[in-house]
Amino acid sequence: MTASRLFSFLAGAFLLASCQMTQMPGLPGKGSVYGDRAGPSGFRSVILDAGHGGKDSGAVSHGMMEKTYALDIAKRVRSNLSPGYRVVMTRTDDRFIELNDRVHVASHNSDAILVSIHLNHGRRYRAGPETYWWRTDSYSLARRFQQQMNAVCPHESGNAGMVRRRLRLTRNPTIPCVLLECGYLSNSRDARLLATAAYRERMAQAIARAIRDQSAYGDAGMGPLPRPIYAPPSKASDARG
Ligand SMILES: [Zn+2]
Repeated sequence: MTASRLFSFLAGAFLLASCQMTQMPGLPGKGSVYGDRAGPSGFRSVILDAGHGGKDSGAVSHGMMEKTYALDIAKRVRSNLSPGYRVVMTRTDDRFIELNDRVHVASHNSDAILVSIHLNHGRRYRAGPETYWWRTDSYSLARRFQQQMNAVCPHESGNAGMVRRRLRLTRNPTIPCVLLECGYLSNSRDARLLATAAYRERMAQAIARAIRDQSAYGDAGMGPLPRPIYAPPSKASDARG
């Protein structure tokens, strides 16, 4: 066997072994590596992650910075969840936090969910909320968020609705995790609404309602759960990690 043939044999064996490894189901109990389990119920802890911060403004449009409005909505969600829930915020002021550190905070809390709050940016006609999820244990929660946010938003146009996408915040934590885009700052109607405290409060109430419903009812009424996808953790080098 030449060196190159030996190498390809070894590489093939390694690939086979790692494929088998990634098809192993997540560990039962405390945290699930793949999220291949039913959605949460009865939880009383929520990790609220206001997107971006500090040197990272996120989307900037219509004179509004995503980091500012994401933090405002997150604080309103926290108010709407108290009393009754233990809320951990990944940031409470304008500071930069690495995505992996946000994942770390979430994974340090068991029997909790992670909700990451963002505002969107895209073509001008796109408007309305979107919900990003990946794990099976986060699907019903994502549906509840999308339904509740849609009920608050008076218009939608060309938005993606529910999106199954493997991001660091939708794949890597060991607890159910969902990323919300509460509207498009790049859309003039969304921006006008999001600029008002009254609309941000209604959006926060909708998010809090979805959390309370998931805790009370679990997956009930949300239809069959999607099949798990045993994909590796999302990395910074992924296209949209
Ligand atoms: Zn964002």
